[in-house]
Amino acid sequence: MESVDVIVAGAGVIGLAIARQLALAGREVLLLEAEGAIGTGISSRNSEVIHAGIYYPPGSLMARCCVAGRRALYAYCREKGIAHAACGKLIVAGTAEEAARLGAIAARAAANGVHDLRRLSAAEARAMEPALRCSGALLSPATGIIDSHGYMLALQGDLEATGGMIALHSPVERVAPMAEGFKVSTGGAAPCTLGCRAFINAAGLGAVPLARRIASLAPALVPPAYFAKGSYFAISGRAPFTRLIYPVPVPGGLGVHLTLDLGGGARFGPDVEWVERPDYAVSPARAEGFYAAIRKYWPDLADGALHPAYAGIRPKIVPPAIAVQDFVIQGPHSHGLAGLVNLFGIESPGLTASLALAEAVAGMLA
Ligand SMILES: Cc1cc2nc3c(=O)[nH]c(=O)nc-3n(C[C@H](O)[C@H](O)[C@H](O)COP(=O)(O)OP(=O)(O)OC[C@H]3O[C@@H](n4cnc5c(N)ncnc54)[C@H](O)[C@@H]3O)c2cc1C
Repeated sequence: MESVDVIVAGAGVIGLAIARQLALAGREVLLLEAEGAIGTGISSRNSEVIHAGIYYPPGSLMARCCVAGRRALYAYCREKGIAHAACGKLIVAGTAEEAARLGAIAARAAANGVHDLRRLSAAEARAMEPALRCSGALLSPATGIIDSHGYMLALQGDLEATGGMIALHSPVERVAPMAEGFKVSTGGAAPCTLGCRAFINAAGLGAVPLARRIASLAPALVPPAYFAKGSYFAISGRAPFTRLIYPVPVPGGLGVHLTLDLGGGARFGPDVEWVERPDYAVSPARAEGFYAAIRKYWPDLADGALHPAYAGIRPKIVPPAIAVQDFVIQGPHSHGLAGLVNLFGIESPGLTASLALAEAVAGMLA
């Protein structure tokens, strides 16, 4: 049986960032991806926003990795010439009651180390974005947008330049601990069995099912899997905004926000729809809810302007009744299997946090 030092399962942004981090630290890394290309899962179906780190519970992995990851990501984008823009965002209150919540949002941001939020009156916000209707807002200058695929290609480039390898069409089917390390069996067109000293499960929506196929991992340590779909709608042409526009958050998500892409296009979403299994169809019938949500901050949105764009699936590990769940990085300290790390529930802000999460995983294996 052939062996490598580390096997990472899943070539989304998280697996790529981890594989790169370990390869840069001098480890021999093989990244196994089930599909025929990198980044075709959650990582290609999101808002592509570089989050500042505003909303997450202080001290949580989400808060810490978002703030550290955001700084590292901007620096990495500059270093590698990855397309991005620190365009800023407005968190807008539609009602006086929502405006009263802006202070608490700013306080939480400050507790997370985000100290640059600026409170704006309705008139100040409208002076910045004349098409906007709101009764007050917070400006987050550190929020931005990124070409997420360009970012993943840069991670792949670093990984391969330091001797790491990616094998596509290589779904990991089973993992079995050995006296030292793990035996990893893959399926696909050319099944094989490999040995490794360390195994990282970064399989996104596949992380929970894969963990269930790791022999000796206590079933009680594998969380349940739930799927919260988020649909997006787009408009043709440009929206009359230069910054991202987010409503005050709703339970389970950040609300139907306006994000801009680097080409100036505008899209709205994601909403929250709990589904039995991943499916990516966007029902035109959901447009009605989008018009209502968007017109709270952009009343001039014309009838018929929205068209279905795409959908993404949040890899939830808690049911709808539980509003907040932190990222879970499950290492040997929790399961006792040296060299094994599982990542569960890596939803938003996973793209922003990816470099910091990679550092945390590498630290666990050091
Ligand atoms: C609707 C939505 C909007 C979001 N918006 C943002 C945002 O604006 N900003 C932000 O920071 N974050 C955002 N996120 C979060 C971010 O997109 C994710 O945290 C991140 O992309 C997760 O990456 P991943 O590598 O864990 O998963 P994935 O990208 O899904 O990668 C996992 C990979 O594992 C592969 N795989 C699965 N099973 C196996 C197996 N058995 N063997 C081998 N390979 C396997 C899959 O094919 C896939 O390629 C959003 C998420 C969603 C759902």
